[in-house]
Amino acid sequence: MSNIQDKMKQALWYAPLDVRIEEVPIPEIGPDDVLIKTRVSLTCGTDVKTYRRGHPQVKAPAPFGHEVAGDIVKVGSNVEKFRVGMRVVTHNTAPCGECFFCKENRPQLCKDTAWISGGHSEYVRVPGPIVRQNMFEIPDDVPYKMAALTEPFSCAVSGVERTPIELGDIVAVNGAGPLGLMIAALLKIKGCTVIQCDASDERLEIAKGFGVDHVININDVEDQVQAVKALTPYNMGVDVAFEVVGHPKIWEMTVEMVRNGGYANLFGGCKENTRFSIDTARIHYDEVTVFGIFHTTPKYVKLANDLICSGKIDLSPIITREMPFDDLMKAIELHGNQDGLKNALIYD
Ligand SMILES: [Zn+2]
Ligand SMILES: [Zn+2]
Repeated sequence: MSNIQDKMKQALWYAPLDVRIEEVPIPEIGPDDVLIKTRVSLTCGTDVKTYRRGHPQVKAPAPFGHEVAGDIVKVGSNVEKFRVGMRVVTHNTAPCGECFFCKENRPQLCKDTAWISGGHSEYVRVPGPIVRQNMFEIPDDVPYKMAALTEPFSCAVSGVERTPIELGDIVAVNGAGPLGLMIAALLKIKGCTVIQCDASDERLEIAKGFGVDHVININDVEDQVQAVKALTPYNMGVDVAFEVVGHPKIWEMTVEMVRNGGYANLFGGCKENTRFSIDTARIHYDEVTVFGIFHTTPKYVKLANDLICSGKIDLSPIITREMPFDDLMKAIELHGNQDGLKNALIYD
């Protein structure tokens, strides 16, 4: 035995509104795996959704949380890239590389995804496929909590990179939560004029800090679509619009605010079994392209990590506060009530 004890505290989801921090055995690792002692985990909108409504793919008791950075305390015998003592950030998943979708070059749709053993947990087992594809050493000058943004930021990077955006485009971002803000920050790097819509002045202030050109508080306007179009030449609509809320009504508005020939990226995942409707003319006569983007891929995980670790983008406004791990439920409540953005849980 090394200096690691055999028990740890881990957050487990039992049922909607029932998440418990319990003593469980520290995970064993296989020859391709790594064990991390968590230093920081971040709250995420997905945690809030799972906490409140559960998740169709989750059977209780299930590990809870997925944005993690920490120190390596064990490496499997086959692992060459990493050593005990390294500061690392891990993505929560990695594709298998072998299924139909991986071979179609759509690893975000992989049917045999590898997962970390938990997120809000004192120790995390990182399986071989993630160690090989989606785990990174953190440079000394980058705090754990900033590196831990790699996972959500990689989804924003994927959402922006997979959208046909041209230099100088006018782009609307509907929603200014963590993902909406990260998307807006990337669009500014790409030279776009960005219009951001949200119901919170506090979030819109943060958007301005990322250089967003126009903010619209949706409570201050009668018609969100017209308010966006009024900021475009001849009121014709934006070149590209993102939906980063996950609500069918906002999906519909997002499609409406795009100019003819433009693109609507419906990025926010909605509740199960919801539908939305759009005027057929938008697709046919107006040639608007409507599409969705799900999750991320190793290519964008690496790019996201590079952008954070090189200091090319400063995402610190996305993390509102630091709290001890034991205050997890308070941190999730604050996040869910939109009191600030993400919270960083600190482990001793
Ligand atoms: Zn997340
Ligand atoms: Zn696969």
